[in-house]
Amino acid sequence: MNRARLIIFNAALGPLDYRVPEGMHVEPGSVVVAPLGPRQIVGIVWEAERLPASEVPEAKLRPLVGPLPVPPLKSELRRLIEWTADYYCAPIAAVARMVLASGGALRGPATMTEYRLSGGMPERMTPQREAAIEALDGEQATIRELAGMAGVSEGVLRGLVNQGVLEPVEVDCDRPYPPARADFAAPKLSPAQAEVAKRFVSAVEARRFAPFLLDGVTGSGKTECYLEAVAKGLEMGRQTLVLLPEIALTEAFLRRFEDRFGVPPVVWHSSLKSTERRRAWRSIAAGQAQVVVGARSALFLPYANLGLIVVDEAHEISFKQDDGVRYNARDVAVMRARFEQIPVVLASATPALESLQMAESGVYERLVLEDRYGGARLPDIDTIDLTEEKPERGRWLAPRLVAQMEARLARGEQSLLFLNRRGYAPLTLCRNCGFRFECPNCTAWLVEHRFSQRLACHHCGHETAPPPACPECGELDCLVACGPGVERIADEVAEILPEARVAVVTSDTVNSPERAAEFVARAESGAIDVIVGTQLVTKGFHFPELTLVGVVDADLGLEGGDLRAAERTYQQVAQVAGRAGRGEKPGEVLIQTRHPAAPVIAALAAGDRDAFYAAETEARRQAGAPPFGRWAAIIVSSEDEAEAREAAHHIGDARPDVADVAILGPAPAPLALLRGRYRYRFLLNARRSAQVQDVIRDWLEALKFPQGVRVSVDIDPYSF
Ligand code: ADP
Ligand code: ZN
Repeated sequence: MNRARLIIFNAALGPLDYRVPEGMHVEPGSVVVAPLGPRQIVGIVWEAERLPASEVPEAKLRPLVGPLPVPPLKSELRRLIEWTADYYCAPIAAVARMVLASGGALRGPATMTEYRLSGGMPERMTPQREAAIEALDGEQATIRELAGMAGVSEGVLRGLVNQGVLEPVEVDCDRPYPPARADFAAPKLSPAQAEVAKRFVSAVEARRFAPFLLDGVTGSGKTECYLEAVAKGLEMGRQTLVLLPEIALTEAFLRRFEDRFGVPPVVWHSSLKSTERRRAWRSIAAGQAQVVVGARSALFLPYANLGLIVVDEAHEISFKQDDGVRYNARDVAVMRARFEQIPVVLASATPALESLQMAESGVYERLVLEDRYGGARLPDIDTIDLTEEKPERGRWLAPRLVAQMEARLARGEQSLLFLNRRGYAPLTLCRNCGFRFECPNCTAWLVEHRFSQRLACHHCGHETAPPPACPECGELDCLVACGPGVERIADEVAEILPEARVAVVTSDTVNSPERAAEFVARAESGAIDVIVGTQLVTKGFHFPELTLVGVVDADLGLEGGDLRAAERTYQQVAQVAGRAGRGEKPGEVLIQTRHPAAPVIAALAAGDRDAFYAAETEARRQAGAPPFGRWAAIIVSSEDEAEAREAAHHIGDARPDVADVAILGPAPAPLALLRGRYRYRFLLNARRSAQVQDVIRDWLEALKFPQGVRVSVDIDPYSF
């Protein structure tokens, strides 16, 4: 080949052609460095016939600089990149960028320099130096990362390096991970578990595409079952990827993994240090990393020898990425397994309706674990009708729930209160004039966080200190909190049960694997009596002394017009209920609601999962919603409201007329202003068989927009 067509990271530029100099070897999948203007960029060599033709004559092509010392991307992975770009209507460059982990993982040397405190002191102390030294105690990272942690400039830290206060440490990013041992501590499986594990193991052995839906109640040992398949992969020298939803909560999983295989797995998530990221990426590409536990982005890594994919808590909505390439990792995982010809396990106690439907139609093999392991019973579930059993004035917990919490406290057992709302109160207003605090960048109220004394937007991160006076009428000390958030519930618990030790668990308080581990250790040691948490607490935890779960407001998720509102409420409540009674003592769940007769609440109280899924299936069928019909969205945004509106109408004017696709809009998107951008949206509702991506591509292809306009496509959207 003397001409190479590259996918490069810059989505706006599309594929570019280069000349391959005499004597240089590249092949499809090679990761190469190429000149672009005065700079050098990283790209991937692609098969020319799969990309649009180039018009640049041979003589004008610039020569490649050369390949990077990493293995070429395998054809299975290149097919996945193409499929993902195609299915989600995303630029192929944007997908390729996820594979190369934005390039940072593979560019540069295998050895990197990190720095840590040497124990020495600078000749001249400044407030900044002092702050940095204090903040970096026990840390080791690159200068840039340390600067971020300490909140000072890189220049300040370089000064400390020159003074010998920070000392260099060479980190070898090619050092191998210690080997896992398949037989380190194998459990004795129950007959039902053994049956399931056998299916997985033989599929790993057979090296064939086999999608499984592992549908088992919370605590039934789903994890134990798929770890047997991981063990098989280890024996065979093949790699396994385990995808998990909330990366902050993998600490418990990592420890469990270590207990089973003797070493922790390789982890992959967005907050890895650059040395960890580089080491993991290289080791995965070289085939040395045996088991990778990661967030959804781990799905696009260049495994040398993948033998199994597991998606745990597969129903979780956090597998859906909502910016950049808007993909659903659960679905892409199945496609990757298909391209790689390997088994994939979707594990859940509350599968998505789409997954159940795939099992029903025979595409997925559904395996069921009906009972909790070791005879632990599923908890008893009861509702509290808030219209009859009213909490005291200014409170949110009904007397019956409080009485049960008191009883737990007296017995030395734990209670868990679930409310999916961070902060103290969702809305803050002025008692004098009714002024409401709104985010300047988003269509959203600011949420009071009393612990950190901030008003914060949960969409864009905007924060301000609560002002002493109302910005509208000037009244002093006038702010009133409306409605409860977890912090307010924690305050209420402290008032009602002053001797109880209360822990608030949200992404504000448990925001790193270390903090998660701390929390788990405290809860396990019995140092916490009442846990108050958001959806972070609904999964993964296993606390034997936890015997009461209170759902503070089950109606919360049902508000708004979300297509999956009922399903999500069902999943969240069923998952959080599954935290109760996992040990020897039976568990109890109390659900506070104003609508005890709503189908989803009634099904939860009756423990009748089938009834819920049947009703929900029927509702979706009638609405033409997934899995019976398809939705897609086109979102047009700009920082300028008029520009966004005009662009939306420009698109609307070109609206195609297609038989089995209904096009709604443009209308202001549900968050009409988000992170400073005004948003309009089209919704497409199509028959399942319709080629909705082709319709969208044809529609948008020829349209031109001003610079500030962004048009993005969301296939199978989650937020409506
Ligand atoms: P799930 O993933 O279905 O929620 P887990 O795999 O976490 O269930 O199992 C629940 C609890 O039961 C865990 O503490 C696990 O260690 C234990 N357990 C499950 N199966 C076995 C087994 N065969 N032998 C020993 N302990 C088991
Ligand atoms: Zn905002």
